[in-house]
Order: sequence, then C-alpha cells, then structure tokens
Amino acid sequence: MAVKVSKFGGSSVADGIQLNKIKEIIKSDPERRYIVVSAPGKRFDGDNKITDLLYLVKTTMENVLPYEQLFQVVCDRYTAVHANLGLTVDMQAAYDEILEKLKTNPSADYIASRGEYLNAMLIADLLGFDFVDAEGMIKFDENGRFLMEETNQAIRDELLSHEYAVIPGFYGSLPNGDIKTFPRGGSDITGSLVAGALGAECYENWTDVSGFLMADPRIVKNPKQIRTVSYKELRELSYMGASVLHEDAIYPARLADVPINIRNTNDPDDPGTMIVSQEKAIELKEKSGESDIITGIAGSKDFTVVALYKNIMSQERGFVRRILGILDDYNINFEHLPSGIDTVSVVMSNKQINGRLDEIINEFQSRLRPDSIDVIEGIAQIATVGHQMSARRGTAAKLFTALAEAGVNIRMIDQGSSELNIIVGVDNKDFNKAIQAIYGAFVEA
Ligand code: ASP
Repeated sequence: MAVKVSKFGGSSVADGIQLNKIKEIIKSDPERRYIVVSAPGKRFDGDNKITDLLYLVKTTMENVLPYEQLFQVVCDRYTAVHANLGLTVDMQAAYDEILEKLKTNPSADYIASRGEYLNAMLIADLLGFDFVDAEGMIKFDENGRFLMEETNQAIRDELLSHEYAVIPGFYGSLPNGDIKTFPRGGSDITGSLVAGALGAECYENWTDVSGFLMADPRIVKNPKQIRTVSYKELRELSYMGASVLHEDAIYPARLADVPINIRNTNDPDDPGTMIVSQEKAIELKEKSGESDIITGIAGSKDFTVVALYKNIMSQERGFVRRILGILDDYNINFEHLPSGIDTVSVVMSNKQINGRLDEIINEFQSRLRPDSIDVIEGIAQIATVGHQMSARRGTAAKLFTALAEAGVNIRMIDQGSSELNIIVGVDNKDFNKAIQAIYGAFVEA
C-alpha cells in the first residue's frame, strides 16, 4: 500500500476538539500511516504553547526555584484531553517518569522534547496506532550534528515493522542516548525525514492555514493562494520571510522527490499548496491553468549595505577574499555581495551585525584600505520569485516600472543567474508599498 506521512502542527493538536478533527482526517485515508506530531500549541490568543512552558520549567530549575507546579500545568493539559476523549493510555506513569528525571537536572532539550513525547502517546492511543519514539530514529553525532544517512536507515528499520504509527516530532538523540532537539518548529523536519526515508507518496503537513499565499496578507489584501510551488521557489520564499513550513524541512523530502502538501486541519477540503520539483510544478501548473508569471513575493526588513569603493579594484587580487575573511572573523553570514568594476557592496542583516557595525567598518577601513565606504542602513529586501520569470521577456521591466510608478526608490538590485528571482533593496519605509506594487503589476493586472 502507498504511504503518506502526515505531520500535524501545534495548533492542530492543541486540544480535544482539534484531536477529533485530526482523527477524522487520518481515518478518512488508510494511506495516512505514519503520523508525526508537534506538542500542543495555543488554543486561543494569549494561551501558552506547551513547548514554551517546558523551556520555562528549565529556566525555573536553573534559578533554583520550584518547578513542580509549572510541570503540573503541562501535565494538566494532557490529562484534560485524556479525560475528554476517554483515552486509556497510562499518562500518569509517563509523568512520573519525567518527574524522576527532572530531579537530575536534565538538559533543556530533554525537557522541551517531552511536549511531543507525551502528545504522541496520547494521539497513538486515540488512533489505535503504535507509538514509536523518535529517540532511536533521529540521530545526531556527539557534537550535535544531524546524521542523515544513519537516520534514514534507522527510520526504515524501525517503521517497516509498524503498519500504522505515531511519532513525536522535534527531537532525536546523541550517541550517548541524550535527547537533542532540532531548532524551534522542528517537527516539520522530522516529518520530512520520515517521508523521505520511506519514499512516501506524499508528505502532508497539516497546519492552520491553507498553504502559502502569494504575498503576506498583512500587506496585500486577500492575496491569491499558491497552489503549486517548486522546492527551489519555496526555499527562496521561506528564506526571505514566508513562514509556514520550517525552511530545513524542504531538503529531506526534496532529496527523495517526495511532494509536500501543506493542508489546513480546520478546512480539510481545501487542497492546500503542493510543493514539488520544478518539472512537476510546470506540469501541474499547466494542467490546472495557473498562468501567473510569478509564484510569490516575500521579503524582510532591517538590512545594512556597506559599499566599498576603490580605484582599479578590479585589478587588485584578493580584495573580495579579504572582505570574506573579515566577515568570517565576525561570524557574519552575509546576504549578497553585489559588485561593480571598482565597487563591492556587502549586504548584511542587522541581526548578524548585532550592534558591531562601527567595529566592522573600522576593520574594512584598516584591512582593505578602500577609497571610500558608504553605509546605507534601514534597507528591506524583497524577492519576487518564479521559474516562469526568466522565460518571459519584460519581467524585470515590469517590476521596475511598477516600483517607479509607486514612487519607490530602488537602492539595490540582485538577480541570480538562476533567474529564479529578482531581489530588490528598498528603504524600510517603502517595504509595504513595494510589495503591493509588485503584486498589483503581476497578479492583479
Ligand atoms: N514544539 C516545538 C516548537 O514549538 C516544535 C514544533 O512544534 O515543531 O517549536
């Protein structure tokens, strides 16, 4: 039988009402055999995510304050669901085991991971599926680096003997058995790994929105939904700020050519967004008649551009290497390095600069001896993404005309040779206006 891996995020598993919805979704398709779950998320505005509460348990413990009550609040959430849904799994035994371990001052990773652990136990009981811990399947080396090959093998070895299983997301273990988590939102990665390792027919990622939108709805009114997007396009959009799926969750599924389908637990009839290879995306778009040239627009604010000028720089060897050396010394991941004949600009996020701009400029000054340095602060980057863009003449002209007509001054342009996207830098204050103008030119026109 074909296999679908279905991952349910925090809001989809926040309480008994949501769990009944996911049960119906899972039971409606027997191919949904491997279920990956997050810890319970917020049930309403102002509510706490279980994972946040568990990190708080660790902080409380570090401050040598009593943490038991706080942990009890966590347990109460599971107990309420257990009672509501008439489940039989012995949660008390699991709480007791964790409480014992808490006495030994375990790591934050261990404590945080219990959110997913307890939820997977509960949901396995609800569905009548096996509970299979992620601890033995998701593997990291002794330095905490993720081990792909070993993980793939372990997932296959373990899951092939379970016809239906629920697996906690977010964590795995180190060689010594200690728990290690992915970054926040990492249950998406677990789901992708399971789907990739098993060569699933589809990796369904169930959340509280019906997939990706072509632009941020806080900026563009009622943006169109993206029905089909390629892995590469999505990577660009996620990197630039579109968040629905953890950006590291794309790779494992993509490697195994498993389509990712973003779905809405609260609107299961909506087909959501399909994330597939470029060839498949073109095929699907043709079939469904989706004709937009661009796939989506995303961006983020607060970047700084440092432009270095030096006469006949083009003949000086090693200039860029030295720039990179300085960035390396400051542990900075730069965004782009647009260059001209006698100029190179370094685009960095303010987060990366982390208050060290003056120091970095001094370093550029003394180690590169440029003729001048210009610093432009408060820059926003906007990426307009789409495989079709390069195939159509006039795409760039259309984009720049739209921005000019909206009165937006373009401070920087960067277009990779993949021609998958065009990135423009504008003043922070023009961010919304620029996105609205681009959307208007390509989608509404
Ligand atoms: N529960 C974890 C978090 O809140 C992981 C996840 O939900 O994906 O970050």
